[in-house]
Amino acid sequence: MAKKKEKRKVTKPKASTGPKCECGGTFKPVTLRRFDFSRYAGLPSFLDGAPGWRCGSCQREMLHGQVVNASLFFIAMDIVGFPHRLTAGFARYLRRSMQITQQELADRMGIARETVASWESSLKEISPQHDLILRVLMSNHARSSEAIPTKVLVDIANDVMATLSSVRSEPAPRKTPDLLVTESDFKKLPAAWLSKMQNTAPTVFAL
Ligand SMILES: [Zn+2]
Repeated sequence: MAKKKEKRKVTKPKASTGPKCECGGTFKPVTLRRFDFSRYAGLPSFLDGAPGWRCGSCQREMLHGQVVNASLFFIAMDIVGFPHRLTAGFARYLRRSMQITQQELADRMGIARETVASWESSLKEISPQHDLILRVLMSNHARSSEAIPTKVLVDIANDVMATLSSVRSEPAPRKTPDLLVTESDFKKLPAAWLSKMQNTAPTVFAL
């Protein structure tokens, strides 16, 4: 015998009823095109096809905190697979993604802190060997990330590890290239995770 469903006082928010905007309008879930993500990554970067929110009145756009974290993860994995030597900005990004200081990284690599500082400030190019060690440390760290669901994460980390079969002999480009997280990256995330995220709005990042 089926139990009669208990009537709830609080109605669950639907996808169409997002958080309120300062202007009085309501944010609705949308797919954002060519979204400038540079201020979050600290590197020139864009999101293309990110699940986000847009105010129906003033068109202001927002990203969910979980999408910010997932995007930061995708960018780290892009950098690990980068075919040239790491730029200063890329090397710094990887270290910060691991949430360690220059000294801690130096200790792990068995080198002087000044060496880390010199490649992060473009004084010296990172050596091919240090470049590879840094990427391997990051890939290993990525496996414990909580930014995205575990199954997806392990697949991505494995794919990126497969690109680390040798050192990068090509020198770093003079200018750090723009990084792009694409719709196909976001599509790697399980649909259920995405829709759950977009239907809850407790941690929305204003942009
Ligand atoms: Zn608004």
